[in-house]
Amino acid sequence: MPVKPKLGQNFLHDVQATQRIAASLGDLSGRTVVEIGPGRGAITASLAARAAHVIAVELDPVLAARLRTEFPSDRVTVVGQDVLHFDFAAAAQAAGQRLLVAGNLPYGITSQILLKLAASHAALDRAILMVQREVADRVTASPSSRDYGLLSVTVQIFGPAESLFTLPPSAFSPPPDVYSTVFRWRFAPRFAELGVEEAPFLRFVRQVFAQKRKTLANNLRTAGLQPPVIVTALERTAIDSHARAEALSIETLAALFNHLKAQQDSV
Ligand code: SAM
Repeated sequence: MPVKPKLGQNFLHDVQATQRIAASLGDLSGRTVVEIGPGRGAITASLAARAAHVIAVELDPVLAARLRTEFPSDRVTVVGQDVLHFDFAAAAQAAGQRLLVAGNLPYGITSQILLKLAASHAALDRAILMVQREVADRVTASPSSRDYGLLSVTVQIFGPAESLFTLPPSAFSPPPDVYSTVFRWRFAPRFAELGVEEAPFLRFVRQVFAQKRKTLANNLRTAGLQPPVIVTALERTAIDSHARAEALSIETLAALFNHLKAQQDSV
């Protein structure tokens, strides 16, 4: 069967790794797991052995048909669909529980899938995802580290993310050009705890990280804020006026957002 590189088809043939991915999801008894991009079913088999129900979402119709033959049991439902259009909320409602998610992702659309999962957070409990190593490094990075930035904050505001293990290209067929890392993401959004509203705060985060070379103050100016407003908010949050957003924790970004909002609300 020809491989479709445009669909990110690098199939995992390291059996130990497939079992490790399923085991990393924790106790699966009674649980419904959505698998993103099941491909030839390498991880699906490990998940189906442990979970009550696996919903395998595969875009390639040839692979989806093959999976239906390979997993005829009621415990595996193959959905031939683009995962970016999959309705996680409806699936969670039908399952009567928050979903678990697993997947060796098609790397070309990793960011879109992470944003889709973030937008579906209310339907989700936790996810185990394999991505390109550099992406996992950015997703799980801490403030002031080389890899910390917009992606780290955008993921971690929806809950903690931690890298678990890395696999070499030789674990896949055909081998990709990159190393791959599996990470865990627990969905526990922090908006209420930080006292910020989801959509405006995420907009603010995109603004402060808009240009990596610029200081935080310059990015805020570019976003249209007045210099005196910026200076006051930086002083009140004890942020250095030359700081870059890459140095700030999510808590500090939230405090700054709230100070700026308070000043704008008082005008
Ligand atoms: N899980 C299998 C494994 O580990 O061997 C396959 C992983 S492969 C990296 C990615 C899989 O995602 C492929 O089977 C590909 O056809 C599928 N895929 C690509 N784009 C997709 C999309 N938008 N929605 C669902 N599946 C997709």
